[in-house]
Amino acid sequence: REFIIAIDGPSGAGKSTLSRLLARSLRYTNIDTGAMYRAVALAARRAGIDPADEVALEELCGRLRIEFLRGDGAERVLLNGEDVSEAIRTPEVSLLTSRVSACSAVRQAMVRLQRGMGEQGGVVLEGRDIGTVVFPGAEVKFFLLATAAERGRRRYQELIAKGLEVDLGQTIAEVEARDAADSARTHAPLLQAADAVAIDSTSMGIEAVLELMLQEVRR
Ligand code: C5P
Repeated sequence: REFIIAIDGPSGAGKSTLSRLLARSLRYTNIDTGAMYRAVALAARRAGIDPADEVALEELCGRLRIEFLRGDGAERVLLNGEDVSEAIRTPEVSLLTSRVSACSAVRQAMVRLQRGMGEQGGVVLEGRDIGTVVFPGAEVKFFLLATAAERGRRRYQELIAKGLEVDLGQTIAEVEARDAADSARTHAPLLQAADAVAIDSTSMGIEAVLELMLQEVRR
């Protein structure tokens, strides 16, 4: 049987890049759970739903269809059939996502979806609560860390590469604000699973982290 691999950690620690590379190396499917919460936030924004309105959010989740489209290039995120891969990455949606994902009805709906997508194995899931809540029995768990300044710098470079006009200091401040929002919430605090392998990527290159992960998977 192929493994379930969990990668958790704060935003900008390199989870997306590494889960994509790890999945490619192992010929596994990569599941970006943050993109799913982002899609809910985007849908809530478009519907004019207050992120504190749990009833409206629960009802919204009941009529959303979130899918991943996997082709040769980058994977795409579909919201009710519409490609929202770019729309879910704006700074406004990022901040709103922290608030929307604090809603327990939203988390229940997403966790159920994620379990359905991953239970067969052969998957790398990246998020905040994969090794603790979604798949506590995952065969391999990683907890990726980096300092807030380094994570902000990486996010800034990602956004610039996408042609977005952003400011470095502001991006670091946004990463810190999102950390604060993510850790203050009670429904889904960011916790490291006891059996997770912690990797601090602050001064490590992507290749070195990938190598470490592959060693761990093959153990
Ligand atoms: O990983 P990414 O930065 O795309 O995640 C966006 C937001 O979604 C996070 O800041 C967090 O609030 C939320 N999230 C979550 N649980 C997950 C993945 C993401 O609450 N498993």
